[in-house]
Amino acid sequence: MTTDSSPPAALPFLPFALPEIGEDEINEVVDTLRSGWITTGPKARRFELAFAEFLAEPQIECIAVNSATAGLHLALEALGIGPGDEVITTTHTFTATAEVVRYLGADVVLVDIDPATLNIDPNLVEAAITPRTRAIIPVHYAGLAVDMLEILDIARRHGLRVVEDAAHALPTTLERELIGTMGSDATVFSFYANKTMTTGEGGMLVTRNAELAKRARVMRLHGMSRDAFDRFTSKVPSWYYEIVAPGYKYNMTDIAAAMGIHQLKRLPAFQARREQIAQAYSAAFADLPVIVPPSAPEGDVHSWHLYVLRLGDELAMDRDTFIERMFAAGIGCSVHYIPLHLQPYWRDRYDLRPEQFVHSQKTYERMISIPLYTAMTDVQVQRVIDTVTGIVLG
Ligand SMILES: *Cc1c(COP(=O)(O)O)cnc(C)c1O
Repeated sequence: MTTDSSPPAALPFLPFALPEIGEDEINEVVDTLRSGWITTGPKARRFELAFAEFLAEPQIECIAVNSATAGLHLALEALGIGPGDEVITTTHTFTATAEVVRYLGADVVLVDIDPATLNIDPNLVEAAITPRTRAIIPVHYAGLAVDMLEILDIARRHGLRVVEDAAHALPTTLERELIGTMGSDATVFSFYANKTMTTGEGGMLVTRNAELAKRARVMRLHGMSRDAFDRFTSKVPSWYYEIVAPGYKYNMTDIAAAMGIHQLKRLPAFQARREQIAQAYSAAFADLPVIVPPSAPEGDVHSWHLYVLRLGDELAMDRDTFIERMFAAGIGCSVHYIPLHLQPYWRDRYDLRPEQFVHSQKTYERMISIPLYTAMTDVQVQRVIDTVTGIVLG
């Protein structure tokens, strides 16, 4: 019973992220479960072919794996990165981007970001090149494309490999071309639960380099010379396989691929909804003492995996207080990411100090990721806008 004196019912908690799984995904997973083939098989292959069709790039090979981390590892392994080598990447990323370099015994060289885009600064990449440098891993942070023309030009001039961490960048474009088709050695997408499309856990390694693709397919499954699906459809006896290297266990299951096939079909609609929410936020926050994230250049697509708001210098409130107030109002927020130079492992391994990464450090101290996902209703979007506005102006 409500009386005039009872407090208003609290709104339900609005999580920071939620996947949007439809009946098509559910039915396809059920079909997989009933089919008798639940690990890597026909649906993983269908998903790879659908992904190649989506990218619409001749000779592109798509290799489904069980995470983007696995895909990054496989790409660097296939490129022969190893002990004594250096790989340059951004400090403003998730640890997965850099840890794969250490898996192979190579060294990570972290550089700062461009404060306007929050993406790796190509000038700093060039300045960090040494005789040991072998590769660059640009990260399309939040879903805004890195200036790949600049990165590829640097790579060409210095004879370096480029592996794109595109975990945020589906379907991001640069100069009207989808990320994944830019001409780097490999591009890796993530289908982790909160990414722009999901398979629960999963990733896709994309390359036009046939040798790289061949090596990655072998290393994806124990270093076997054929994967399970091929073994059961080719003329070679079904029981026969050869181990050509000590490979990994990185294959994507058909259960996961079943989701991916349908999530991929919905990707344009997902992106349109994310765009709509991002634009509503940026319009609503335009006159507040905050910095809204940059949009893609005219004619290009920002995938809007993340909406990263920064508190303006003129605002006395600190980032932690802002997040506490959002939580108190029932809205989940996050921080992407605690820069690698602050993480104990990376800091101590390479003796890193915040002064070496002024833009990432400053951004970290002032940034908040607010909810942005396709399952949000307009009412929920408005609630986020009203809450942010109230906290900032209050
Ligand atoms: C999510 C993410 C990854 C790792 O993706 P997984 O599929 O979880 O392995 C790598 N890099 C960045 C920038 C990410 O956000």
